[in-house]
Amino acid sequence: MQKWIEGTVVDQKRWTETLFTLCVKAEVAGFEAGQFAKLALAVEGEMVARPYSFVNAPKERPHEFYYVTLPEGPLTQRLCKLETGDTIYLAPRPAGFLVLSEVPDGPDLWLISTGTGVGPFLSILKTETPWQRFEHVVLVHAVRHAEELTYRDIMGRLLREHSGQMRLACFVSREKAPGTLHGRIPAAIEDGRLEAAAGVELSAKTSHVMICGNPEMVTDTTEVLKRRAMRKHRRREPGHITVENYW
Ligand code: NAP
Repeated sequence: MQKWIEGTVVDQKRWTETLFTLCVKAEVAGFEAGQFAKLALAVEGEMVARPYSFVNAPKERPHEFYYVTLPEGPLTQRLCKLETGDTIYLAPRPAGFLVLSEVPDGPDLWLISTGTGVGPFLSILKTETPWQRFEHVVLVHAVRHAEELTYRDIMGRLLREHSGQMRLACFVSREKAPGTLHGRIPAAIEDGRLEAAAGVELSAKTSHVMICGNPEMVTDTTEVLKRRAMRKHRRREPGHITVENYW
């Protein structure tokens, strides 16, 4: 099998000093919303590759990837310098289990993210599936600074299209920002602020929670949910929590 597919950069958006969206034209195999592709560049004769979630829905083109540059990152420091027309390599087959086909039915779906972890949830929300399957869909996006609350146009459009059904709760932890919750997700679950903001109950009886982002947030949020009798979902042992660590 061919190891890498050649793609072409068709756009690069810079949101902040460190947050970027790369748009790529490439013939990779089909994927389910929530999955990731492996992006690669040749660095000193060797391929350096990392997984990045699709932000585009499976039917949308070009492919879109939301990433944060790392100060010493061998790949991200090169990704952010790519321009329209440049070549980038992709693994032929997308992968990953942060997908709705792995999620059992239940009234409400919670999508909890930090930083660039919101990307796969945007892909999911741009498909029909969550709107057909769930009564309420709550998107949670937590960032350090207000300027990192990206993709607000898409979130606004989704809120308009699914008013009543979709709820959005944004956190900004390191400054006060109007219209957002302050602090961290696990604490706001414990003291009831997140449910109050969403207007939706978060419980083992009513909710399935998908979590994506900072691994410590994933761990701490999972712990708080376990105290509400929620447990990790497994195919053989259905539960309430599906997670993806982002680094
Ligand atoms: P971040 O540190 O992940 O923070 C994003 C949000 O998560 C902040 O509101 C933060 O709150 C919160 N948070 C952090 N730890 C938490 C926990 N244990 N429980 C609940 N919430 C928690 O910030 P970022 O800007 O997205 O990423 C920062 C660094 O992470 C980057 O510079 C990079 O080094 C690394 N990163 C790596 C990758 C990768 O390798 N693919 C991807 C993304 C980020 P506080 O402000 O209170 O900490």
